[in-house]
Amino acid sequence: MSAKIKKIKALEILDSRGWPTILVNLELVNGIKVKASSPAGTTTSQYESRDLIDGDKRRYMGRGVMLAVNHINEIIAKNLEKKDARDQMGIDKLMVELDGTENKRQIGSNAILAVSVAVAKAAASYNKQELFVYLQETYSLKPEKSKLPVPLFNIFNGGTHADTNLDFQEFLINPNFQSARFKETVHENRMSKVIRAGAEVYHTLGKILRESGYDSDVGLEGGYAPDLDSSIKAIELMLAAIKRAGYNPEEDFNIGLDIGSSVLFDEINDQYLFALDGGHISATDLIGLYSNWLSQYPINFIEDGLNENQWSEWKNLTDELGDKLTIAGDDLFASNISRLKEGIKKGVANASILKPNQIGTLTEIIDYGKLALDNNYRLIVSHRSGETTDTFIVDLAVALGADFLKAGSLSRGERVAKYNRLLEISCL
Ligand code: PGA
Ligand code: ZN
Repeated sequence: MSAKIKKIKALEILDSRGWPTILVNLELVNGIKVKASSPAGTTTSQYESRDLIDGDKRRYMGRGVMLAVNHINEIIAKNLEKKDARDQMGIDKLMVELDGTENKRQIGSNAILAVSVAVAKAAASYNKQELFVYLQETYSLKPEKSKLPVPLFNIFNGGTHADTNLDFQEFLINPNFQSARFKETVHENRMSKVIRAGAEVYHTLGKILRESGYDSDVGLEGGYAPDLDSSIKAIELMLAAIKRAGYNPEEDFNIGLDIGSSVLFDEINDQYLFALDGGHISATDLIGLYSNWLSQYPINFIEDGLNENQWSEWKNLTDELGDKLTIAGDDLFASNISRLKEGIKKGVANASILKPNQIGTLTEIIDYGKLALDNNYRLIVSHRSGETTDTFIVDLAVALGADFLKAGSLSRGERVAKYNRLLEISCL
């Protein structure tokens, strides 16, 4: 029997925000059928590979993806049919060549990612293997046997992800996976306890918000999105929820922030505009503000604390606070290998976000993850604000032995689908 690809067919579907994205159906000659779909970002870095968007204003206000769908059905399908799905690296290389640009803008990163993931799923299914096991074997990945990524739960949404006055994009709770509170028992493993604790804190926060007269509606990634008096107020509400749910700040949960600062940066004045917390502030003062918060609150994770082009300020941030917290580059690195190499050379940040659609092919995604881990950068595999119910990122994070998984809040189907897959893997 062979794992030959019989048919690849793509179509336009909707993501969790109601905007178009791509679904790929792939069939092997032996009858195995799989699906894969691409996520999409709301705030994107100028350095990430390009999703191909139609721009035809008559459909979805220009945001249709029929060009990318047609590239799959006409170009990719023709070139991949009859190829063996187990040749992931060869297939990925071929798609990179077919595209021919440095950022996948010709065929579209959204098109290439969905096909690349579908090929891996088909081969895993052909081999009767879990996807993460197949990826580990294919790419000779050998993470620590017991290592599962720690889920970073996003419980307040702000910035461009919600209609709230919160400037920061995400307020996260970061579980201390090794805490005695999460010790495995006969009925519950450590991951179930961590996910349960996250959900309990989330629901408790909802209750506190309602009791205090705040809005408890949610944003794009499922976190609450009320109008508050300050960013600090959000942190204090989170700490109150952690305690009232029966957990201890610091011991069981720390606070993480995704500032999403690129969209808050005013290039003309070289300053950040934090409307809620009092206006314009320079990079140096912002680093001072983070440092001040660190001395008052149990914050141990900051993502995109500075704009994606401020390399020397990023270096200052890393030098000043790198030993106290995880400093993650998202828009800064944009899952772009040459940007990460630059960061490693300069000693900038100590962690990187990895978003598959910022690169395109699985092989390049794995190369990126390995580069980060080999250089002692903490690795955070991440969803996007526009998601589908595809749970591929969870298998990817487990396969790589990533330190964290960012998959949103403890609500919304497309987010919890990822945590449910993580629970499933933890029970294997
Ligand atoms: P995005 O947001 O998908 O809109 O880029 C996710 C993040 O920044 O972590
Ligand atoms: Zn981010």
